[in-house]
Amino acid sequence: MRLVTFEHGGRQRAGALRGDRIIDLRRAEPELPATVLELIQGGPAVLDWLRQTVDRAAIETTLPMSEVRLLAPIPRPPKVLCIGLNYANHVKEAEHMGLKWPNKPSVFMKASSCVVGPRDPIPMPPTTQQLDYEVELTIVIGARAKGVSRADALGAVAGYTVANDVSARDLQFSPDGGIIMGKNFDGSAPMGPCITLTDEIPDPGTLRVRTWVNGEQRQDSNTNDLIFDVPAMIEYLSQALTLEPGDVILTGTPAGVGLGMRPQVWLQQGDVVRMEIERIGVIENRVE
Ligand code: MG
Repeated sequence: MRLVTFEHGGRQRAGALRGDRIIDLRRAEPELPATVLELIQGGPAVLDWLRQTVDRAAIETTLPMSEVRLLAPIPRPPKVLCIGLNYANHVKEAEHMGLKWPNKPSVFMKASSCVVGPRDPIPMPPTTQQLDYEVELTIVIGARAKGVSRADALGAVAGYTVANDVSARDLQFSPDGGIIMGKNFDGSAPMGPCITLTDEIPDPGTLRVRTWVNGEQRQDSNTNDLIFDVPAMIEYLSQALTLEPGDVILTGTPAGVGLGMRPQVWLQQGDVVRMEIERIGVIENRVE
């Protein structure tokens, strides 16, 4: 099952994908929780109810995809956690920046206010000359998790989405900018198009991950290249902090970012960044 948040008639709705149509969940079942976040917070009982609703939803409760604006599946996640340097090929391309092979996951956060929809523009901040993209498999937490073992970690996952960890490299690597100014500007976390629940992705370990800029392929990798895999990231993070339903974890990007190119190439106004992860879908955002 694939869940979306969309805008239609000026209102924000939760939906489930069925081919090229969206089931408006509250039209199909008015008693269901109204948002994707609340559906996930409801846990297995609500998800069973949701599944029954989706199975019997009539065509009259659906809308064509072309008539809605997709928002990020969770427009304001409680926490946006990020892992840096998590693909071997990306560590290698970033070596010239002084970045080293990680012995444990390298963690940072983005503000929830960075999150925008899968087709929204990325506003280029006037503070940067070096705007860059990073496609990332993104975990959506489904159950409260503290101190979970690797063996139990996938039980805390609701599903997966796609995110672009948009980065301003000049600020990221500047002592007076850092992660806050380099990775927390408005629009720096496009996300979507849906959350594919774990019924369709029981194992996130072999998903193809790709990026194109203006139609030219830049990143093409697979989550089987992750240094710290999904269970390892959840186990590590949950030692220190409680993961809660709706929290998202961006899991790092593979090789092929502008930073790693020789010569380096940065995003310009008007560039269109398209990202696709197998079994989840496509996000496509224009730099403005
Ligand atoms: Mg990243």
